[in-house]
Amino acid sequence: MDKVLGIDIGGTSIKVGMFSTEGHLEAVTKIPTGEITSEAAFAVVTEGLKKLLADNGFGPDDVVAVGLDVPGPVDDNGKVGMLANIELDPEGLQAAIKRTFPRANLAFVNDANAAALGELWQGSAKGAASFVMVALGTGVGGGVVTGGKLVSGAFGAGGEIGHITVNRDETLSCGCGRQGCLEQYSSATGVVRLYKVECANRGMEPVHLDGPTDTLSVFKACRAGDEAAKAAIAQMADYLGYALAQISVIMDPQMYLLGGGVSGGFELFADDLRAAFRKYCLAPSISTRILPASLGNDAAMYGSAFQAMQG
Ligand SMILES: [Zn+2]
Repeated sequence: MDKVLGIDIGGTSIKVGMFSTEGHLEAVTKIPTGEITSEAAFAVVTEGLKKLLADNGFGPDDVVAVGLDVPGPVDDNGKVGMLANIELDPEGLQAAIKRTFPRANLAFVNDANAAALGELWQGSAKGAASFVMVALGTGVGGGVVTGGKLVSGAFGAGGEIGHITVNRDETLSCGCGRQGCLEQYSSATGVVRLYKVECANRGMEPVHLDGPTDTLSVFKACRAGDEAAKAAIAQMADYLGYALAQISVIMDPQMYLLGGGVSGGFELFADDLRAAFRKYCLAPSISTRILPASLGNDAAMYGSAFQAMQG
């Protein structure tokens, strides 16, 4: 029976989904890993994959495709670029997987792009010809799909939605070295920062925050009527709506999907966000749908499996 593995590579573990070729998720496992840079570490991964298959009555020869998502750039030829936040030797791991699963086609995908492909395959964007996925996490990532295909661009910068300039007057610098990027306002880090600024403006003490990306506490405060939290979330929605309106001028997608941790507060900012989008967009795009993504943390696992099947 043909099976596809989708592997979501994180800093301390990898999450693996075993799929049917039709896209049904049949089993999931988590394999603890450290640095994935040695033969011993590759073996931990391949043994974990074999065990997942064996536990479900399958073997290495059943695997026709293995997709892996990475938190970094992957060019159109599937070559992985510089990985800043993770210790991984992609070529070494690829070789080890190839030896273990000789029938399988392998593919690496950037994690935000993988999430977009996952939503296209089995999530909110199923059947959509064009959409843009916006991942609101620690930063803001994007995945652009048009004509059913990912756009990664001539130089690999396609879909870097987090770095659309939304405030030319900003003096604080973004991680990219520029100022006024969407990511500075609409990421988890951005929402928490805006909340603290709004508290300071009002002479209010912020609620207890569990670190610089704790949007859950800001959302909770907002639900409890905290005015600073409401103002911060309204600003975040305004900047995001403005950025999406700029994207629509260029590619006019059928829909926008929001994923990542911040999208957990979708119901709190959906009305403000849709109103901001309508305020800034060009008239023909006014009915563009803005929806939450539906696969949550599994999206990238689905998408990397899907990409590996294409090759
Ligand atoms: Zn930036």
